[in-house]
Amino acid sequence: MFCDYRRKPLNPVSAQKPQVPDFALRPRQVHTITDRFSMANTYLITAERTVVVDPGSELNVRLLQKYLQNILHRTSADIDLIVLTHLHFDHTAGVEALRRICSAPVAASAAVKRLALNDGSHKVFPRITHLAEQMLPGSLQHLDLFLPAYTQQVKLIDLWLEDVEGLPFHPDWRVLASPGHTPESLCLYNAFTRELLCGDTVITIEGGAPLLRSSANRAQLEETLRVLRGLQIQYLYPGHGRPILSEHPLESVDVEW
Ligand SMILES: [Zn+2]
Repeated sequence: MFCDYRRKPLNPVSAQKPQVPDFALRPRQVHTITDRFSMANTYLITAERTVVVDPGSELNVRLLQKYLQNILHRTSADIDLIVLTHLHFDHTAGVEALRRICSAPVAASAAVKRLALNDGSHKVFPRITHLAEQMLPGSLQHLDLFLPAYTQQVKLIDLWLEDVEGLPFHPDWRVLASPGHTPESLCLYNAFTRELLCGDTVITIEGGAPLLRSSANRAQLEETLRVLRGLQIQYLYPGHGRPILSEHPLESVDVEW
């Protein structure tokens, strides 16, 4: 899996042989940032510049800053985009801290605009939902019992991401709407490196096996599963739990209906 497939210099004979298509050769771009309790994962996509996916907590922001400097020899000024896979508090709490050290715009699914206008869940349980997001420790937020507080969270966002479009400034990364865990959930997929960043759409906290998160809308979840299974994936990066490096990581996925 970690073999270095980069080509050796070609001699005239090997140059005449058919080459493996270039897209299969690109090295992976994603780095994982997590605290030792692995509450929620933050990811860095490193190309010419850097994307932060799900800043998580303030602790994760401090960790990613150190990682940028010490491992990648970059600085926070190198970050040109912040992406939120969905708006649960355990993935977004670090946004303010991150914006203090970089000026990158924050992007999330365009579905959030609609959800903020029709924030029906909060009309029913306004206080419970708000308090839960403010007060539950990260470990309990893994339960993700509540819809995000869209009317508050919408203010964090500068750029809106549409299904199937390329990521701003990083067109090799495709946005995939993946409603299920929450209506605005999205994944980021790079067909050239076969990497999938999947937020809480798929997690691996249950003994390491991939689990597709539940949804009130079963048809929507089935469609999300169908889309994800149609992708060639070698590296799966979940919002919680360990990344999976495998030829077919979604072949044996459990589905929480
Ligand atoms: Zn979540």
